[in-house]
Amino acid sequence: MGMGDFTNPFDLFSSLFDMDIGNRGARNMAADGEDLIFNLSLTFKEAIFGVEKEIEVSRLDCCTTCDGSGAKPGTNTTTCTACGGQGQVVSSARTPLGVFQHVMTCSACSGTGEKLTPCNTCGGEGRVRKSKRISLKVPAGVDSGSRLRVRSEGNAGRRGGMPGDLFVVIKVIPDSVLKRDGVNILYTCKISYVDAILGTIVKVPTVDGMADLKIPAGIQPGTTLVMAKKGVPLLNKSNMRGDQLVRVKVEIPRQLGDKERKLVEELANLKKTKTLNGRR
Ligand SMILES: [Zn+2]
Ligand SMILES: [Zn+2]
Repeated sequence: MGMGDFTNPFDLFSSLFDMDIGNRGARNMAADGEDLIFNLSLTFKEAIFGVEKEIEVSRLDCCTTCDGSGAKPGTNTTTCTACGGQGQVVSSARTPLGVFQHVMTCSACSGTGEKLTPCNTCGGEGRVRKSKRISLKVPAGVDSGSRLRVRSEGNAGRRGGMPGDLFVVIKVIPDSVLKRDGVNILYTCKISYVDAILGTIVKVPTVDGMADLKIPAGIQPGTTLVMAKKGVPLLNKSNMRGDQLVRVKVEIPRQLGDKERKLVEELANLKKTKTLNGRR
């Protein structure tokens, strides 16, 4: 094709393709391995305090029979005749706008530029599916949606390409009583109206086990008490922790026993007398 053909705005593209084909040796077409995702469920406490887990990952490993080449051992690999070893074939199409070149992966060699006798183990792929046990250190403070990256534990690369990474995506199984809010733990405790008036000490579940919580006398319903440093360790700063926030619910009895009713009535009368006498 003469210079006269290059008159349309797509010229630049076709010349770039030409350069590309000329420069890239298809024989050394290294392909990096794909990244993999592994979903890992953790208990509420495992996510908070961290845990060591052994996971089993199914991935494509380098075929040991052919050492990843895809060729049956002892056979010779020859240059693909369909593409002359380029791995790509170029077809030209004449249109009213000019001549277009299409670059396509060679179908005879799948772009490798080589013709080989395929390895019996991997069928020429150079990789085989294997499962591998991987020890994983989950740091304290992870939450649902946290992603841990394990370098080079994804699929193997091909023709000298780098292996992909393994991404472990965390899912935390919720706890039945403790709720998580970032680095804080939320809990609701119920106390009787008498305890609210007089104050008390209640046992409260925390991620460290049961703990005493002092309820001050005269606490108002809905008050939130802070149990400092009973929350979630900060990710990568595990010596720092969030808090446990305890919301205090005051229960008013729907029914009173005879004696209790009498006492409350006495209390009511006492209040009335106080008000009538104008004391305080
Ligand atoms: Zn093989
Ligand atoms: Zn070919």
